[in-house]
Order: sequence, then structure tokens, then C-alpha cells
Amino acid sequence: PDPIAFLRQQIRTVPDWPEPGVQFRDITPLLANPRAFRVLIDQFVHRYFDLRPDAIAGLDARGFIIGSVLAYELNVGFVPIRKKGKLPFTTVQETYELEYGSATVEMHTDAVKAGDRVLLIDDLIATGGTMMAGKRLLERLGAEVIEGAAIVDLPELGGSKRLREGGLKVFSLVAFE
Ligand code: IMP
Repeated sequence: PDPIAFLRQQIRTVPDWPEPGVQFRDITPLLANPRAFRVLIDQFVHRYFDLRPDAIAGLDARGFIIGSVLAYELNVGFVPIRKKGKLPFTTVQETYELEYGSATVEMHTDAVKAGDRVLLIDDLIATGGTMMAGKRLLERLGAEVIEGAAIVDLPELGGSKRLREGGLKVFSLVAFE
């Protein structure tokens, strides 16, 4: 059986959440299924074993779940990019626009070193705003973002296209129209 088709079956679509008209792609059934979780991580391990990032930066909060397991498997460090107000040490911040309002993410200033090759990871790319903010944070600290990875891409929202136009390589496993 095709592993990508198998993973796709484990993602639940919740209509009209968090607001009317939105089809929320929910990866929690995939994480709860031990075989699917292993297939998921193996897909990323196979891609990144030879690319060997120096560190993996996960986006708050579902990027932590997959990013930390992948970092462990590749024997590299894990760095959290958090929503504003959660990190205790000195931080760099990036603010980006949402449909209504804005959001701020931050990282510790010593989380990566200049010249580090970092893999950025999250569960899903919609407009690409979150991943672009993560890329900017890492680059402000002198890191090179080797790729932005996600389980799910929503290509109709244009995020992965925008990220590629902004100079980021993008890798995703499953696309939903
Ligand atoms: P973007 O910044 O518009 O690309 O939105 C991506 C961020 O919002 C990621 O951190 C996702 O976890 C979250 N997100 C947006 N839409 C969904 C969805 O349908 N399912 C799961 N997460 C989503």
C-alpha cells in the first residue's frame, strides 16, 4: 500500500472549524495511530538522513510533535519557535499578518549558531505566513534554512508557492485542495 495514501486517510477534515467556511485538517488521528505515526516519521527520516541538518526548528505547537521525534532520529538538536510570551531567555521576534489581526513568534537568540543548516518543520502550510516568519527568525540569527517541511500543504491558499518565491525550498507529504 502507498504510504502517502495511507497517511492521507489518517487526516480528519472538520468542517466549519474554527469558524464557518474553514475545513480544518486535523492530524491527531494520524498521531494516535502507531503505525501511521511511524510511517510519517520514516518519510521525513528518509528525506533528511542524507541532507543532515545541524538542527531542526519546530513551529508552535504541532511542529514540536513531529520535529522533536525527527531530531531524535537524526541525532540533531531541536529548537522551538514559540508564540510570543513563552520563552524565558532573550529572544528575537517576528510579527506577521493574519486574516484578522497579527501574530508574533519568537526564538531564543542562542538557539542556533551563524552558519547552521536548519530544517524548519510544521504540520501544515496554509498561507505560508507562519513558516515565512520562522525562516526570517532563523536567518536573522545567521542560520541557513535548508528546507521548510510540513505534513500537509493547502496549495489553493498559495502559501507554498509564496514560500518558494521567497527563496525557501518546500517539502510536503499530502496536499488537500
Ligand atoms: P499559515 O501561517 O497560514 O500557513 O498557517 C499555518 C499554521 O496554522 C500552522 O502552524 C498550522 O498548524 C495552522 N493551521 C492553519 N490551518 C490549519 C488546518 O487546517 N489544520 C491544522 N493546522 C492549521
